[in-house]
Amino acid sequence: MLVVMKFGGTSVGSAAALQQATSIVKKAREEGNEVVVVASAMSGVTDLLLRGARQAEAGDVTTADHARQEIMAKHTQVIEVLLAGSKAHPSVLTEIGALLDEFEALCQSVSVLGELTPRALDVIAGMGERMSVRQVAAVLEHQRIPAQAIDATRLIVTDDRYGSAIPLMSPTAECSQTLLNPLIKERVTPVVTGFIGASEAGIPTTLGRGGSDYSATILGRALGADEVWIWTDVNGVMTADPRVVPDACTIPHLSYAEVGEMAYFGAKVLHPQAIRPVRRSVIPVRILNTFEPDHPGTLITKDPDGSNQTVKAVTAIKQLSMVTIEGAGMIGVPGVSARTFGAVARTSTSVLMISQSSSEQSICFVVSTSEKEKVLAALQEEMALELDRRDIERIRPQDEIVILAVVGAGMKGTPGIASRVFGALGTHHINVIAIAQGSSEYNISLVVAQGDGDEAVRCIHEEFRLGTGD
Ligand code: ADP
Ligand code: ASP
Ligand code: MG
Repeated sequence: MLVVMKFGGTSVGSAAALQQATSIVKKAREEGNEVVVVASAMSGVTDLLLRGARQAEAGDVTTADHARQEIMAKHTQVIEVLLAGSKAHPSVLTEIGALLDEFEALCQSVSVLGELTPRALDVIAGMGERMSVRQVAAVLEHQRIPAQAIDATRLIVTDDRYGSAIPLMSPTAECSQTLLNPLIKERVTPVVTGFIGASEAGIPTTLGRGGSDYSATILGRALGADEVWIWTDVNGVMTADPRVVPDACTIPHLSYAEVGEMAYFGAKVLHPQAIRPVRRSVIPVRILNTFEPDHPGTLITKDPDGSNQTVKAVTAIKQLSMVTIEGAGMIGVPGVSARTFGAVARTSTSVLMISQSSSEQSICFVVSTSEKEKVLAALQEEMALELDRRDIERIRPQDEIVILAVVGAGMKGTPGIASRVFGALGTHHINVIAIAQGSSEYNISLVVAQGDGDEAVRCIHEEFRLGTGD
């Protein structure tokens, strides 16, 4: 079978991790599979590149210089161990050095111009993956696994929304098949950069932070893969973020819809958009642990499993703000919601949750805090007349809030879930600021103050006995 395997930052982040990753590829090939690898940047590299670029915009290029040295050191450590004595040893170091020269030159230009455009930021952000695939392919080759590094700018065609580009599936399928199928046929494993693509005009783009998962599912769909395996540093998708809930445990089986809700509402283990390409073409996805490869992890398919578990997971997204529009003059006036969300849409901000009270005296919605200012400005402008007439009394932002999502297909049609959620929060004296339930009934989302977020996740997790051993 054809398997697209994605290795995340920690899975390629050290010599020991990369050794594990290459054994996984080797084993899958020996079992008769055709394998396409998608690799992230080594862990920490994307952050270093971004910090270097942002500081350069402020006129400081020494941060970029330090980033360069740190990135080179990370790669050198791996190369010294895994490519010692190989022909590739000097050439891979030279290639990585050349990419870092390009990074420094770009940061120099950014500092001279004093401006970092989204387009330039995407070129810089994606350099970690370009370095990583060269290293991964050389290590595979050295271990006698035929492999070839490929930049996804040649495969994944996107729109030009820099920073969170969207793939255009038919040109992507055409380019990917033309370039990769001949290699696959010759049993050469392509090692493709995660995270990046290019617009139709050929300008590099990125798919958003954590976007290598998305790259893997895009390629899975483009190549008609039998399965997509996401290799990471935990045993699959868990009942909650294991950093917040120490007794979180692996969920063996999830549907596309369930995992889609979880990823959208903050489960970092999968990029929020990653499930879309595979959902349409019904390709199973597995989330597996590079450091415990025999653990079955999580299998994601179309149908929810037959278990009668109602709630499967609880997730949280942080760094959000809630905007409330209030005023007695809004009652019964048609078009207020349409105008509100029209104004928000013009700022290209995505709204994570909406709630309207039945008296129609207020509408509230949640956006990322980084987008709050432009949303407020757009609303003030759109509603200037109503504000002036006091039909709308105020447009009020509230920062430092968290959306919690309680997810599980079995919640559909099961009464009493919401009361258990709110009961558990009430017992812990956690105030609920807003509530929404999707019509899918696969999730209940609620807003609490950021300071209560972790405790709220833990108490819902406990209420539904999602932890190990139950
Ligand atoms: P990678 O570099 O492999 O893409 P990420 O750091 O992006 O890995 O995602 C894996 C991390 O996601 C885990 O280490 C874990 O801390 C975090 N995480 C958050 N929520 C969940 C969850 N519900 N299940 C599993 N992991 C989660
Ligand atoms: N390297 C990118 C990031 O850190 C993409 C990824 O790891 O998935 O966001
Ligand atoms: Mg990730």
